[in-house]
Amino acid sequence: MRTEEVSERADTPGPALGKLNGGAVAGKDKEISWSLTKARLFQSCPRSFYYTYYLAKAGRDYDAPEEARLTAEMKRLKGLDMWVGEVVHQVIQETLEQVRNGEDVSKEGALAEAKRLLSGGWRCSQSQEWRKFADDEHPSLFNHYYKLPVNDERISLIKQKTYSSVENFMDSDVFRRIANTSTELWLPVEKYAAFRLDGLLMYVKFDFAHKDGKQLVVYDWKTGKPSGEQERQLTCYALYTSDKWSVPLPNVKACVVHLQPEIECREFVVDDTSLDDLRSYIMRTFSDMVECLRNPARDIAVMDDFGTTDDLKKCLWCNFRGVCEQGQVACGVSDDPAPEEDSAYG
Ligand code: SF4
Repeated sequence: MRTEEVSERADTPGPALGKLNGGAVAGKDKEISWSLTKARLFQSCPRSFYYTYYLAKAGRDYDAPEEARLTAEMKRLKGLDMWVGEVVHQVIQETLEQVRNGEDVSKEGALAEAKRLLSGGWRCSQSQEWRKFADDEHPSLFNHYYKLPVNDERISLIKQKTYSSVENFMDSDVFRRIANTSTELWLPVEKYAAFRLDGLLMYVKFDFAHKDGKQLVVYDWKTGKPSGEQERQLTCYALYTSDKWSVPLPNVKACVVHLQPEIECREFVVDDTSLDDLRSYIMRTFSDMVECLRNPARDIAVMDDFGTTDDLKKCLWCNFRGVCEQGQVACGVSDDPAPEEDSAYG
């Protein structure tokens, strides 16, 4: 029986995995959920998915084995583009909170905050302050963690991307429209917003939403390039907001705002085609994820069941390259130039 296989491993001393399967990883009484982030990660590399959603969680236990502890540490790593996206999101969020509180806001103030977050975050990452503080203002940057140098040109690109994103937002019609909308119509954005689609628990993370007459407008800020999955992401946001605030789906307008190099706002309304596409994508990716579980009823996962990517270039920029066997080989033997980092913000 499959469950016995897991129990046997769980009780087997030796590999850290055995202990983990008998501990934090095994028997989580938690419903298996779906999100676009999970699906994308699984499709990119199932092993990386295992590290992120299973082993890293076990690594937070005080007596966790070294491999799991390191995995938890690596899960927190941020690539430079991802970090820029987070800084920009934080500045916009703080600016909107100031507007909500009736405080004065200015482009200069927003840029100064972006500069503070960039320089403070860089310093904290270099001095590993993230070991003491587990918040976003104390990031652990991938390049620092793996001792990969960042040249002056790259640093200046990071700054340029951050400042132009903030500046474009502050000068935008989108911001003016939001600031001129009564804050009573602004809708609360939960950190872990969840809803059900066909019974499946789904998580979404959008940036801002407000009511506009009979319509509801939901926004997503992007510092990266447009991605092919944007429509699915917006469909998820529209479904969540429609469900949460009881607004008919055709009355939900989902907007993706690309902040740089030029600001561009694309609006999207869910139709039957986008809904069918999302449904079939969810079914496919969710069943792929569940098939890898040794015991789906108890959400028990075993590392060997999660294969590694065939594309060794992905390993170069994978957070877990320091614990993953394939990652260590790829980083040791690959002569390929490092590819562009992926941005979690599209
Ligand atoms: S290092 Fe490569 S194989 Fe290992 S988890 Fe990361 S992407 Fe997957």
